[in-house]
Amino acid sequence: MNFINQIDLKGKRVMFRFDFNVPLDSSQNITDDIRIRAVLPSLNYALDEGARVIIISHLGRPKGKPVPQMSLAPVAKRLSRLLGKQVLLANDCIGPDVEKIVQDLKPGCVLMLENLRFHKEEEANDDEFSQKLAYFADVYIDDAFGNAHRAHASNVGITKYVKACGAGFLMKKELNYFQTQLDKPVRPFVAIIGGSKVSDKLSTLINLIKKVDKMIIGGGMAFTFLKAQGLEIGTSLVEDHLIEQARDILEKAQKLGVKLYLPIDCVIAQSMSAEAVTKIVPVQEIFPDWMGLDIGPATITLFREVIANAKTILWNGPMGVFEIDAFSRGTSAMVHALAGTHALTIVGGGDTDVAVQKAGENDNISYISTGGGASLELLEGKTLPAIEALEKCAD
Ligand code: AMP
Repeated sequence: MNFINQIDLKGKRVMFRFDFNVPLDSSQNITDDIRIRAVLPSLNYALDEGARVIIISHLGRPKGKPVPQMSLAPVAKRLSRLLGKQVLLANDCIGPDVEKIVQDLKPGCVLMLENLRFHKEEEANDDEFSQKLAYFADVYIDDAFGNAHRAHASNVGITKYVKACGAGFLMKKELNYFQTQLDKPVRPFVAIIGGSKVSDKLSTLINLIKKVDKMIIGGGMAFTFLKAQGLEIGTSLVEDHLIEQARDILEKAQKLGVKLYLPIDCVIAQSMSAEAVTKIVPVQEIFPDWMGLDIGPATITLFREVIANAKTILWNGPMGVFEIDAFSRGTSAMVHALAGTHALTIVGGGDTDVAVQKAGENDNISYISTGGGASLELLEGKTLPAIEALEKCAD
């Protein structure tokens, strides 16, 4: 695979695929611009090289038709401020009007095309749509890690029709952390997996158990494992059909000599609400009509000790329902624990990334992914379609 710094960009029309799928509030204000900031190294590099920059991205789920609330206008505005230069926004991503603007684009200028998903052909990986996008570019650079696990026209189809293509610096960084560093981790290597369901992360657990020295399982998914060990878990989240699989993972860990840690106490309530009365109990004592919604203080101490001497820590998924303050302590304590270690700390995107931000520890984590789904698929050992397409294109 080629990377941006191995391709001649001078004077070329360089099309960047970014993942600018940023969260917006009801007034279309960007509430978190980390995905925009994350691609500035690639953009600044191309501009310094004298490229004519064309940006393509999706935002939200407009389902194949123009939805004004999902316009990339707020993104163009924010990017313009971050770059300190004008970012033009075309009113579509294909068509004669766009072609005219692209043709007039001068070196050092930045043009953003409107939301790719205003066309249903984008998610359908439609060949003709790919060709239309490719027509605007001399060079194609994919830096949209957050979308790399999807096979769409703008990140897979397009690579068949561009003259030169490669990955940007963000993609390079994500692959470095989620593939290179984790393939040969500095040991002890500890994985912390949480979140709601075992089913979402089953393949990740199966793949990681072979690689780690220790594994911590928390969050809602821990209750399926606790039930697999014969405990009564009240009305806690459980996936009964996966109890057998959970047992297999526990056995596998034992066979491989991997130390696997589950919560030993938890915060319980009768409902998942901020007003609910809460109690802290050992996992053996969960009341029949109560549910576990966070790890308890004894578990926090245990998990802290487990990661204390780690050299590499990977974390994906919160330890509890961290969106509600009463159940956020466990997740927040784990963020601070990670931030306080001397290990290489790698955090998956999505909810875990939100939890790190909420705890104000962004600067104390070695790497926070910009792609929850894509990083999970890498952890499952899968090849991402966008990466595969870039590799083929370089051949
Ligand atoms: P995931 O997307 O799989 O990482 O799951 C994140 C979600 O898991 C968050 O919205 C949490 O509220 C939820 N979660 C974490 N712990 C629990 C729990 N004990 N019971 C129910 N949901 C949980």
